[in-house]
Amino acid sequence: MAIIVHKYGGTSMGSTERIKNVARRVAKWHAAGHQVVVVPSAMSGETNRLIGLAREISAIPDPRELDMIAATGEQASSGLLALALQAEGVDARSYAGWQVPIHTDSSFTKARITAIDDARIKADLDAGRVVVVTGFQGVDDQGNITTLGRGGSDTSAVAVAAALNAQECLIYTDVDGVYTTDPRVVAEARRLHVVSFEEMLEMASLGSKVLQIRSVEFAGKYRVPLRVLSSLTDPNIPLEQEMQSGTLITFEEDAQMESAIVSGIAFTRDEAKITLLAVPDRPGVAFSILGPVADANIDIDMIVQNQSVSGHTDFSFTVNRNDFAKVVKLMHDTIVPAVGAREMVADENVAKVSIVGIGMRSHAGIASLMFKTLADENINIQMISTSEIKTSVLIQDKYMELAVRALHKAFDLETAPT
Ligand code: ASP
Ligand code: MG
Repeated sequence: MAIIVHKYGGTSMGSTERIKNVARRVAKWHAAGHQVVVVPSAMSGETNRLIGLAREISAIPDPRELDMIAATGEQASSGLLALALQAEGVDARSYAGWQVPIHTDSSFTKARITAIDDARIKADLDAGRVVVVTGFQGVDDQGNITTLGRGGSDTSAVAVAAALNAQECLIYTDVDGVYTTDPRVVAEARRLHVVSFEEMLEMASLGSKVLQIRSVEFAGKYRVPLRVLSSLTDPNIPLEQEMQSGTLITFEEDAQMESAIVSGIAFTRDEAKITLLAVPDRPGVAFSILGPVADANIDIDMIVQNQSVSGHTDFSFTVNRNDFAKVVKLMHDTIVPAVGAREMVADENVAKVSIVGIGMRSHAGIASLMFKTLADENINIQMISTSEIKTSVLIQDKYMELAVRALHKAFDLETAPT
């Protein structure tokens, strides 16, 4: 009998009515003979509410206590779901992360799963039960409750699916799949039936918020097939129909991919740009600038160093906007004087727009069509970065939506490839 993992996001768990619908859907899978493990998020808004309470007491809450508080959201939703399943006549039991246990490291608020003990879950499945496991949380070696970072229930679900060798991990959410881009920006955005892990990884890291990026990494590493689908359809639709809905995220070699060269357009306003002007051009400069940023545990995204003119070069990089103030201070107080840059220019009004597609590997001219499209719209490109399967540009943020719409059209993404 196949083990299937279902994950339900906050919106899907957003009210007791919705939780009852989740229970009806799960009961349908159970009745069809599947062994089902369900990983729910907290009810929508609950995690924000809990973190807000903590902030009312402390401006910078102790991360250990923050996790203690934030983890309760999933404990409540899991218990409620188990109750709703029982009301449907399904034998069900819920477990908190520490009861499974889901072991993590001790990085509070962004812990990583290190191992999952599957014995308890398996015993319950074999006894015919549906098992509900809290998303988002785990336990460290000292017995402290940890959480996996915002959106972490996706990763919990994938990790549970990997540990159980599940046949598929179904991510039920408030959208009906992964789209070529955000339909709120481009009305013609189209649902993808299949997308490769690599593309999904790029899209998740480039700003598509459908899945937490770590969950996609995890799924790739342990080869867990994922499907993103809607939890808001009638819970009683036939199983066969449900199994074909949404977007399947799979391995290139396992599936007939859609033959589009570009599969999607991702974008994010989460970036901010820092430029050091007239940095002396000598060995070790990049390290002197970025080493301390890395030491402060801040991720750097795009980097551009210009050709040097008369022994000086301009050096730009981007960081997440949340880290911007910290980095600006670090540059201003220590790095700029240390490397002898003339001045620093900091710009928060930027956005990154990226085209993604595995077809880019084998097709030339994709980036140039992107640049032409932006030129036709008179949008200035500030930075460019590329990988095998994506090209990203940094532009002024007020042009972001225009850029996304123009690119969606230029690459004909509204039409399904044949
Ligand atoms: N409840 C957590 C959050 O809001 C985890 C999740 O929903 O995936 O971030
Ligand atoms: Mg989520």
